[in-house]
Amino acid sequence: MEDTGGITRRAFLALTAAVPLAPCAFAAQPSASSAQTPWYRRALRWGQTNITEKDPVRYDIDWWRGYWKRTAVQAVIINAGGIVAYYPSRFPLHHRAEFLNGRDLFGELTRAAHEDGLWVMARMDSNRAGEDFFQAHPDWFARDRDGRPIRAADKYVACVNSPYYEQYLPDVLREIIERSRPDGFTDNSWAGLGRDTICYCDNCARVFRAKTAQALPPTADWNAPAYRDWIMWSYARRSQLWDFNNRVTQQAGGPDCIWSGMNSGSVTAQARSFRDLKDIGRRATIMMLDHQRRDDDTGFQQNGDTGKRVHGLIGWDALAPESMAMYESGPGYYRVAAKPAAEARMWMIAGIAGGIQPWWHHVGAVAEDRRMYDSAAPVMQWHQAHERYLVNRTPIAGVGLVWSQRNTDFFGRDDPDSRVDAPYTGFMHALVRARIPYLPVHIDDIEASRGLRVLILPNIGALSDAQAVAVRRFVEGGGGVIATGQTSLYTGTGDPRDDFALADLFGCHRAADPLPARPGRSGSAHTYLRLAQDVGSRHAILEGLDGTDVVAFGGSLTPMRVEADARVVATYVPPFPTYPPETAWMRVPSTDIPGIVVSQRGRGRVVYFAADLDRRYASEHLPDHARLIANAVRWAAAGAMPLEVRGTGLLDCHLYTQPGRLILHLVNLTSEATWRAPLDELIRVGPFDVSVAVPRGMTAATARLLVGGKTVKAAVSNDRAAFTIEAIEDHEVVVIE
Ligand SMILES: [Zn+2]
Repeated sequence: MEDTGGITRRAFLALTAAVPLAPCAFAAQPSASSAQTPWYRRALRWGQTNITEKDPVRYDIDWWRGYWKRTAVQAVIINAGGIVAYYPSRFPLHHRAEFLNGRDLFGELTRAAHEDGLWVMARMDSNRAGEDFFQAHPDWFARDRDGRPIRAADKYVACVNSPYYEQYLPDVLREIIERSRPDGFTDNSWAGLGRDTICYCDNCARVFRAKTAQALPPTADWNAPAYRDWIMWSYARRSQLWDFNNRVTQQAGGPDCIWSGMNSGSVTAQARSFRDLKDIGRRATIMMLDHQRRDDDTGFQQNGDTGKRVHGLIGWDALAPESMAMYESGPGYYRVAAKPAAEARMWMIAGIAGGIQPWWHHVGAVAEDRRMYDSAAPVMQWHQAHERYLVNRTPIAGVGLVWSQRNTDFFGRDDPDSRVDAPYTGFMHALVRARIPYLPVHIDDIEASRGLRVLILPNIGALSDAQAVAVRRFVEGGGGVIATGQTSLYTGTGDPRDDFALADLFGCHRAADPLPARPGRSGSAHTYLRLAQDVGSRHAILEGLDGTDVVAFGGSLTPMRVEADARVVATYVPPFPTYPPETAWMRVPSTDIPGIVVSQRGRGRVVYFAADLDRRYASEHLPDHARLIANAVRWAAAGAMPLEVRGTGLLDCHLYTQPGRLILHLVNLTSEATWRAPLDELIRVGPFDVSVAVPRGMTAATARLLVGGKTVKAAVSNDRAAFTIEAIEDHEVVVIE
């Protein structure tokens, strides 16, 4: 990302660091839209009709051109080849769409899009082939341990270490470029076979031995060095393919003819298919996201989180378009039924708030449920009208929520959902609930983001020595750290440590007993936390809980050794019966087993949640857990937050800066379907009183509402601007200048 005019990732981190501490300057000049900016940094709205094999006999190109125009798209993704070819390929084994009948549908659509001034990404989907292909090249396909070919339905799965990827696919890419000159390529299933299946084909055996001097691992055993090596070797191969494919397309199609495989917003999904998000982010000119819908229990805010995570890797001047299903896509898949408009709309808006470029996605060229064609246009048209406020902006957040794909691999192992994702999600939800803007921070970027006030380590079990040093330095620099559960109790590759690597920060040591097995994400025990009754006032973390001596917990804890200079603000109450009700009394009302430990380390403040309230909050949504987490963040930050929003409702708050202005994006998550898709009705909330830190010396400001369509005066004092937003239906974007 060493782009000259734009904000580099390094600069972004530095700016993010500087702004909340000393809001004295707006961000550096973002790159201007100009002819010198490559197309993949200018395509802000996208569309994709995923062509089915039936479509060549029913594709109404003129109708779709009208739809492109109505939805103000600047780039389209058109199926070209791979599993199915939509043009008359010269390769006889390149399977033609069943109804293609010699037509060059890809070429016709590409020509039409180019005539309409749109950029075209040719879509590949390229990891499997039919019987005839397999018979011709049996050594190009993945094999199980017994040498049998690995199949997916009626197809054979190609091996990423075979000439299928090294010779055949490059030839197909070159053919598509020669015929139709697309502007770039994207590939749906480029990463090949996922982690669940070890390929034992001759290619894999040979290359793995050459690289590691070992045989392929016989089983998926996380404790075996060969398996760990296979994991990292598999990642490296995908990153290598990324570079290789880019060389192929750029050599044949010119320097801007880029190749970009699809990536997921979920780190766990990335891990399952060996797509290293950080490593890819370093290589990617654009990040094409396949993250089409919300999961019920992570809410729309998951898409804002995804946008911020990805931009933290590729920079905020690069683009991250995301395929967004306009058909019903979750939990069930109904490819040709419209997704409720409100559900589709809010997923788009939540992504836009996190810096994602909207991209409507339909499957098939003809849908009888025509309602799906009305969902995207209003959002896209609004986006077009205000696009300059929606890209090239630098986030302002005092809080970094740390993630690590190696932790997903080596600590998450076969249960990343409960060990890794739920703790992260719990923090995400608690921060959104408290309206505290945050940024996902990759664990190896901690040093670069030192100016953030608070780092959160959500059960980051696998932490390397170097990463522990980075966390320690952050605290030495005056930063606050919040860590939960088993954070730092394992090495970077997942071997258990005798004690926390960060025990000195936590003020808390693992006792001799083994740590308890934690109940799964949905498991719950009848346990509590007892709030410390201090002489004088309670600790700030317990603020708002004056009316109670205990809060529900649900997890289990074991004794620990706490340093004298650390303070225990909540202790564990072990389980007692819930039923019959007559038995529901505490057998052991209090223990000295710590649940929450706080300590002051120089200028830095540290909170260690032995109690996994992050994961508990993800599963049970108890407001007390969110309150304790938010209180801990505010205490660790040791000062005013850059943004305060008062009023009733559930809002996801994103704060950005551009030269001369602040941009506040508020997404209304209040609905009858907050935790249960699909959403069918938007519920208006408000009023909201907003207070935001502004650059020092600013004496007057206006707040322009890009959705409400009006300008309100902001009262400026003490380097903060205050104003009121009367109502928010779906979202509001406030430009403060
Ligand atoms: Zn193989």
